[in-house]
Amino acid sequence: MFAVAPMSAGPSTAEFKERAESPEEAQRRSRFLISASASLSESLDYERTLQQVAELSVPDMADWCTVTVIDEVGVARRLAVVHADPAKQELAAEYIAKFPPTEHRSRQLLDVLERGAAALSVSVTDEDLVHAAQTEDHLRIMRALGCASCVMVPMLVRGQILGVISLMRGQGRAPYSESDVDTASELAHRAALAIDNARLYREARRREGTMRFFAEASTLLSSSLDHVSICERLAHLVVPSFADWCGVELAEAGDLRSIAIAHVDTGKVEIARQMRRRYPPDPAAARGPHAVLRTGRAELIREVTEEMTSRGARDEEHLRFIRELGLRSVLMVPLVAGGRPIGVLNLVWAESNRHYGPEDLEMMRELGRRAGLAVENARLYNEARAAVKLRDEFLSIASHELKTPLTSLRLKVDGILRITAKAERSAADLAKLAARVQGVDKQVGRLTELVDALLDVSRVSSGQLQLRLEDVDLVAVIEAVSERFKDDLIAAGCSLSTVVTGEAGTKPAGTKEAIHGRWDRLRLDEVVTNFLSNAIKYGAGKPIQIRVSATKTVATIEIEDHGIGISPEDQQRLFERFARVVSPEHYGGFGLGLWIVKLLVEAMGGKVAVRSAVGTGSVFSAELPRQGKGPGITPR
Ligand code: ADP
Repeated sequence: MFAVAPMSAGPSTAEFKERAESPEEAQRRSRFLISASASLSESLDYERTLQQVAELSVPDMADWCTVTVIDEVGVARRLAVVHADPAKQELAAEYIAKFPPTEHRSRQLLDVLERGAAALSVSVTDEDLVHAAQTEDHLRIMRALGCASCVMVPMLVRGQILGVISLMRGQGRAPYSESDVDTASELAHRAALAIDNARLYREARRREGTMRFFAEASTLLSSSLDHVSICERLAHLVVPSFADWCGVELAEAGDLRSIAIAHVDTGKVEIARQMRRRYPPDPAAARGPHAVLRTGRAELIREVTEEMTSRGARDEEHLRFIRELGLRSVLMVPLVAGGRPIGVLNLVWAESNRHYGPEDLEMMRELGRRAGLAVENARLYNEARAAVKLRDEFLSIASHELKTPLTSLRLKVDGILRITAKAERSAADLAKLAARVQGVDKQVGRLTELVDALLDVSRVSSGQLQLRLEDVDLVAVIEAVSERFKDDLIAAGCSLSTVVTGEAGTKPAGTKEAIHGRWDRLRLDEVVTNFLSNAIKYGAGKPIQIRVSATKTVATIEIEDHGIGISPEDQQRLFERFARVVSPEHYGGFGLGLWIVKLLVEAMGGKVAVRSAVGTGSVFSAELPRQGKGPGITPR
């Protein structure tokens, strides 16, 4: 073991003077301290000045000197290793790179760091070196650098231990004495003050920078009401001051969608995009953007190690992407709105070789909150605008639709009034009267249908649509609807055939087949009515076929027409509220029928689908579980 002699934290100046030493010796020491102080007060770049202090310490105070500082995140890091012999500087560089100060087996340096008391090892033997060495290599370098006597002094300020200065002398030089400990302690105290000042200054600058940054961020984030451009602004706001590249992702339909990517090197934006496309983050991973979105907790990877890179890469190509982008440090924070994560801000340090720390985490979390709010506001604003637009469009369609039967009703009623005003009515008048009353009846029927559809919308929107499940024969429902549409089919020139394939197989025409299930009879009627009326309306006078089939558990109804058909893009939105894909001049309708059909079928536990090709016709289908489900409808 080293001969450790813990000393007090540092002698006072009075004590310093009292120590017996030759005047030359005292002069040499004070010259050293003066030049070290001058060096330390020269700049606020303490990393550089500590290197200079280490350089000043050799060869007078030591053959070699190391400076270890506790960094802002509490990790002890070696800042300087300087040897008096330039030939040994390479060894010193190797020492700094390979042997972290915290891994000495003797723990002597850690003791100084923990207790804040100086340690003097007057005589260090080779056995002590063997004992302290981390590895054979470490031993080889320590022996080559030479260590026969050693002093370690803590850098203390305001009760805080900021690091350690270690001075080493080799064989053939006077070993360290207590007066050397005094000098070293005085040096360490001044160095600590310099570090403290520099850090306070940096902190003040950082705060100032943070305030400026947030002021700028707030202006930028509130200057658009389009969430995509907000995300783009956000990405460009943090690059290059807070990231070499940045990606903004938003939660959409249970997934994360990449909205914006910015990179200091614009040439790399495309590489980052390609990597995101080819290797989207794994939604089930315990870490990464999806985990941040799930938990709302930020993730900080201070140092992306080679091991992490090769472990994280999914294949050779992925590895090449990661290497090309050169990830060094990663920070992911949630974009939060209303206390709920709505996206993720990914920040990466790459070429500038910097690292994220706890302060960045705090700052970016705050940015994530502000940006989340801006994105959500923009989205809500646009949703509200779209809803208002949709409502206005709907109101104009609705008034137009309601107006058509009303106009015709008005004409019919006028005709009736004219006939009834006559003093004498002929048989022809009576026949006309009957025809007009029939016309009135038809228009009243149409108005009732329209008003019923409107009522359905308001019921569904307010969650009041309840299902009444009972045993229903689907085939009988289809027959009843077909019967009701007899005249319309004739008027449209469409023939109608029905094929029933029950569990037992197809029955020959004319044989009664029934498919029973637990459904809401009226709603089922509404579903078939909507499908059939559309087939007649858009069926171009061609034959229509209804096919009904059933397995033990599911009944399926398909209605096929050979009319105008629907393009693939329009098929996507047919079942949405107010979706009308044909021109209102040619075909009337609210664009509500299929939306209501979808809600009703889903409420009964089933699903709807469409297959269609423009000009060829369409097949609309509904699959309904026979055991039924419900009640309850959730509109979207
Ligand atoms: P509408 O009452 O306007 O007909 P629907 O919700 O029933 O509303 O239908 C929405 C849109 O789907 C219609 O405007 C029409 O463009 C299209 N559509 C529905 N059924 C068919 C069909 N059988 N053939 C072609 N287009 C259809």
